Amino acid sequence: MPVPPQSSDSPRLHLLDLDLARLEEILETEFGEPAYRARQIFQGVYHRGLRSFDSMTDLPQALRRRLDVAFDLTLPTIHEVARSRDGSRKYLLDLADRRRIESVFLVDGERITFCLSSQVGCAFGCDFCLTARMGLVRQLSPGEILGQVLLLADEGGLGREGYNLVFMGMGEPLHNFDAVSAALDRLMSPEGMGLSYRRITVSTVGVVAGIRRLAQREYRPRLAVSLNAADDPLRSKMMPVNRAHPLKELMQTLRDYPLRSGEKITLEYVLLAGVNDAVEQADQLASLARNLPCKVNLIPFNAADGLEYAPPEIGRMEAFQARLEAAKIPSTIRWSRGRDIRAACGQLAVETP
Ligand code: SAH
Repeated sequence: MPVPPQSSDSPRLHLLDLDLARLEEILETEFGEPAYRARQIFQGVYHRGLRSFDSMTDLPQALRRRLDVAFDLTLPTIHEVARSRDGSRKYLLDLADRRRIESVFLVDGERITFCLSSQVGCAFGCDFCLTARMGLVRQLSPGEILGQVLLLADEGGLGREGYNLVFMGMGEPLHNFDAVSAALDRLMSPEGMGLSYRRITVSTVGVVAGIRRLAQREYRPRLAVSLNAADDPLRSKMMPVNRAHPLKELMQTLRDYPLRSGEKITLEYVLLAGVNDAVEQADQLASLARNLPCKVNLIPFNAADGLEYAPPEIGRMEAFQARLEAAKIPSTIRWSRGRDIRAACGQLAVETP
């Protein structure tokens, strides 16, 4: 799927959209500069946290001015910040074409996680998720994805250290495969930010072709899959993607996914009262997960206007978890952060202007 340009009224290339090879080529052919200048620019942006060409003082001043004319280096702009009592913050961001996305700065004790959006809206129509109500408005560019990381890092006064990234905001990352892959290359490659795969998780509804393609890539993040139901009729009702790619195919794709030593796939399971929270369903989930190195994240449903479901009682969640434990499937009950500011799982949605 083609990635639309960062801005329809700006013909300038966005620097964050370019990989190192492309930047080297442009500098050599259009600027008559040596290729190593591209590495200096990458160092400045991705290692040193510089946000303007002017601050790249290792470049000649005349070159800095030319770069400034040729390339856009702006980040998405903050439209609004909502601050949660738990320390988490939800950023409503304006993109160059005035579309909006949400990115979340999650604080859980010492642990800081950026929850990133990969699309404006989402095409997958899961019936328990608010973002689905928007439909897909457009894809994000690599630079818009990376821009969220740089902006949240700046906001938190963080360099390249001290945070994890999850592609669990608005959108389906594997339905914007090329842009997400380009962003991952920049985040994980040594010439980019050099982040370890341990710090980055891509979450998917189960786009089988995307999982297979991700498996082939050099810079491969951790994988999380939103399972949410352990039988086909229920999963197809909750998540239309299951009609095209039923559980057997999905689980086989996960079994084929190459894992590094000690690595596990995360299976996410939103618990919905009276729908998928029975102990028999825990047993079904356990048998699906058998022979797959995995851990299960049980997420109590987060309510939002217009969503029909309810979260289960704590006792039922514990009984569900006990059955997984009996089957030796590790699991955690994940209470979403930022629920008081509608920044929790399934609650991200913005009106289009
Ligand atoms: N499209 C990707 C990335 C979004 S992740 C994916 O679905 O994996 C968003 C996570 O929040 C998913 O695991 C989803 O199952 C969960 N979720 C969606 N709506 C929710 C809700 N109302 N309450 C709790 N979790 C929800």
